[in-house]
Amino acid sequence: MIDVVLKKGKEKAVLHRHPWVFSGAIEPVKGKPANGEIIRLLNAKKEFLAYGFYNDQSRVAVRLLEWDENTPVDDNWFRDKVRTAVAGRAHILADGRTDTCRLIFSESDYLPGLIVDKYAGHLAVQVLTSGMQAAMPVIIDELNTLLKSESIFDKSDATSRAHEGLETTNVLLAGNQPPELVMVKENGIAYGINIAEGQKSGFYCDQRENRLTLANYARGKKVLDCFSYTGGFTLNSLQNGAVQVTSVDSSALALETLQENIRLNGFEDTKHDAIKSDVNVQLRKFRDEGEKFDIIVLDPPKYAPSRSALDRASRAYKDLNRLGMQLLNSGGLLATFSCSGAMDMETFKQVLAWAALDAGKQVQFVHQFHQPEDHPVRASFPEGEYLKGLLCRVW
Ligand code: SAH
Repeated sequence: MIDVVLKKGKEKAVLHRHPWVFSGAIEPVKGKPANGEIIRLLNAKKEFLAYGFYNDQSRVAVRLLEWDENTPVDDNWFRDKVRTAVAGRAHILADGRTDTCRLIFSESDYLPGLIVDKYAGHLAVQVLTSGMQAAMPVIIDELNTLLKSESIFDKSDATSRAHEGLETTNVLLAGNQPPELVMVKENGIAYGINIAEGQKSGFYCDQRENRLTLANYARGKKVLDCFSYTGGFTLNSLQNGAVQVTSVDSSALALETLQENIRLNGFEDTKHDAIKSDVNVQLRKFRDEGEKFDIIVLDPPKYAPSRSALDRASRAYKDLNRLGMQLLNSGGLLATFSCSGAMDMETFKQVLAWAALDAGKQVQFVHQFHQPEDHPVRASFPEGEYLKGLLCRVW
């Protein structure tokens, strides 16, 4: 096994079990490990620190896996991590009302670069590091042993893979080609999931609990679901007696699936509209028309991909939320989210305070939203925390 040596003074994060070693922190590597190869990381005194995946194409040159020198990272190591992660989700699926969730969440489940989402009998995986790519045969074998899935589909995201020098993929890894729409249930609501063409691996299962919370407030209300995708918040609101729901998204495919989901749940007779538009344009249109709502959901895509983009992103979040606040009836609720890891909850609250000032509104935070337990945050890897939201009462 090849040794990679840390520069002097760079070992603190490793000792704190942070799983990333940046390329600037290591000495030139002797012996040319292949990308994805498992190496031994040593400190400047040449003492063992950890085993990790090496990649000279990535800013993160080493992704650490195991800190115990006597525990080799072999097939059994990967099988054990997969088993532990899958077992940890059993209770989410136990009551039979939910058959979709995230089974493996990358670094947070000690498997850097591997995401596995369960869609009823089908699995969608994203393989985002070259090390994990090399480990895939054993991981697929273990997933097959544990779950006997009808299919395992690789839906790896292009941009993250490019950082690792990997090609984009969209291929069947095991089993039979999944149907165009895989039928799943989340809290008793039916969804069709387009794994191959939908966004991410097909569905945003990280909003499962937040959809339920929001639905508690929906009875008798007029709801606007912005960035609706395939209708998670829309369907939960209709299920809980919203009198009218309007969904807005810029993706035609997302809205097509949303309409299918309305049918699947027998909500054809409810008052529901789907508008294909840029939310920023549509909100201004509603404002100019004098339209008002009782509840507005704002669940935009990631505005801040990195810390350096945070200032710009904060302004975009502020503008969006100001518009949302202005469209609410007095005492109405704004459910607003940020899935930018670079923006923490305190900063997000500050942004909403600015938005309230600009909107000329009083705002009370009545509930804080987070990512659910199938997207755990590892204590030594705070970067795994990305989804946050606030339910705001607005006057
Ligand atoms: N709330 C959704 C998930 C939202 S994901 C759910 O519960 O499933 C973000 C969505 O925003 C995507 O569907 C994407 O198509 C849409 N989107 C991105 N930019 C947009 C814009 N400027 N206007 C409208 N929709 C946008």
